[in-house]
Amino acid sequence: MKASAGGYARARDLSHALDLLADADGMGRVLAGGQSLIAAMNMRLSTGDMLVDISRISDLSGVSVQGRRLRIGALTRHAELGRDALIARHAPLLAQAVNHIAHAAIRNRGTIGGALAHADPAAEFPACVLALDAVLHLEGPEGSREVRAEDFFVDVFETAIAEGEILTAISMPLAEPDEVQMLKEVARRSGDYALAGLCFVRRAGGVRLSVLGAGSTPLLARAAMARLDMEDIGGAVAALRGELNPPSDTQATAAYRRHIAGVLLRRIWEEIGGESA
Ligand SMILES: Cc1cc2nc3c(=O)[nH]c(=O)nc-3n(C[C@H](O)[C@H](O)[C@H](O)COP(=O)(O)OP(=O)(O)OC[C@H]3O[C@@H](n4cnc5c(N)ncnc54)[C@H](O)[C@@H]3O)c2cc1C
Repeated sequence: MKASAGGYARARDLSHALDLLADADGMGRVLAGGQSLIAAMNMRLSTGDMLVDISRISDLSGVSVQGRRLRIGALTRHAELGRDALIARHAPLLAQAVNHIAHAAIRNRGTIGGALAHADPAAEFPACVLALDAVLHLEGPEGSREVRAEDFFVDVFETAIAEGEILTAISMPLAEPDEVQMLKEVARRSGDYALAGLCFVRRAGGVRLSVLGAGSTPLLARAAMARLDMEDIGGAVAALRGELNPPSDTQATAAYRRHIAGVLLRRIWEEIGGESA
């Protein structure tokens, strides 16, 4: 099957893209790397009534340090994140995530902004930005606004991005010198979406733990985080399994996904030298 016919316009810059979306009268769709959108259109799961191609807006790409925060342009591609020195130093969780995402062709085209806006609960970057306590920067007809990652993911494939808005960047605190960032997941084959996965961040202020593939949105596992702050791994595993509401599908049962999450948490704990219980 092929996508239904629709319009297409390439935006020169951000303000042109916002104008094109406003002119599309609610029928506009932002096109970034096209790796999810075009596939969905080909399956007629999504319509491309008016594609607004932002992929050539160079201002929306790249990684920089701004004060005590790392800023990543929404159009930065997965492969670029995987080899960027600032990412390796200040947000290594994102570089680890790239290794788990699909295969080279998709990593060369897909953008972090596209992955976050697409909001697949099994995708790696949504869970990463939750664990990193990132902020998502949006630009729209009413101006700019910022949304914390915790408030961004609303439901399966649904985010806080309003009609006519574009995700322009993601920012997060720079990793502290002793900070631990670790992503672990279980997938049937390398590059497949994970059955379940964990993003673990330990800073001076405490642990942040997020889960992918275990519900309708990536989840911040607050009950498990509280137990980890008390160095209680047994309690954390039990709390984590209790707060997950994963789907049962052809890939795995809910019970198996809960089990995996607990096993992954124990493995992370062992790797960072935590006391076992
Ligand atoms: C076979 C296959 C396997 C994959 N495996 C994985 C995997 O294992 N893990 C994983 O995490 N991902 C996986 N992906 C998804 C991949 O990471 C995509 O590249 C990514 O989800 C979408 O990025 P994109 O730039 O291609 O976005 P697009 O496809 O261009 O857009 C996706 C959606 O986001 C919207 N959008 C894009 N950019 C913006 C923006 N800046 N502002 C507002 N809205 C925007 C679009 O309108 C569209 O609704 C896979 C994809 C495929 C096709």
